[in-house]
Amino acid sequence: MTEAVQQPKRIMGVFAHPDDPEFFCGSTFAKWAAEGAQITYVLATSGDKGSDVPDMTPDRLVAIREEEQRCAAAVIGVKDIVFLRYHDGELEVTPELKRDIVRMIRLRQPDVVVTNDPTTWWNMFNRPNHHDHRTIGAAALEALFPAAGNRMYFPELERDEGLSPHKVKQIWLTVTRDPNVKVDVTDYVETRIRALREHKSQIADMTALETRIRANVDPEAPSDQPRYVENFRVLNL
Ligand SMILES: [Zn+2]
Repeated sequence: MTEAVQQPKRIMGVFAHPDDPEFFCGSTFAKWAAEGAQITYVLATSGDKGSDVPDMTPDRLVAIREEEQRCAAAVIGVKDIVFLRYHDGELEVTPELKRDIVRMIRLRQPDVVVTNDPTTWWNMFNRPNHHDHRTIGAAALEALFPAAGNRMYFPELERDEGLSPHKVKQIWLTVTRDPNVKVDVTDYVETRIRALREHKSQIADMTALETRIRANVDPEAPSDQPRYVENFRVLNL
């Protein structure tokens, strides 16, 4: 097993959509926030296609989902949220997206970056993974290594914006079928559920979701000591 950085001080979550941080590993973010970490969410899109409501427009949906994300993040203990406002469903690993991620890494200087495992074509619930989740994981990995820590990449960031290279210590990949680190989040599951309740436009049946989350105990824990975990593939840099 990989040695996880214990109690990282600065953490950045790089995800595709509002609600992804809470759905994928919200309890771990809540734990880190409670331990005093400074956490930034960088969200590549604002989820402008995530609605089946007939008269919904992309602009209204962006406003709704960004507000829901701010409220959910506040429950978790995260105040710093950056919306890059790419279009939902259309993310590609472009130099522009990688530069935007490198910029945020050099600005916030995190110890740990959390993002999606880009190799997950289907998840542990036997459902296909979203294109944007794989894509943001690939873009973030390429931004982190080697671009963020190497001044030869995107030299305009240093020349025009004064952003020096920054080397991140570890990358934590979520929604992975190949984990090597397990975080005990037993004390933070209820915080995650309260945060998920803020994503009202995205959750049709919150009661059913809460029931599923509470039933999802760690199968490796003894039955008289149930616990909840979140799994990650942690890469050292
Ligand atoms: Zn998503």
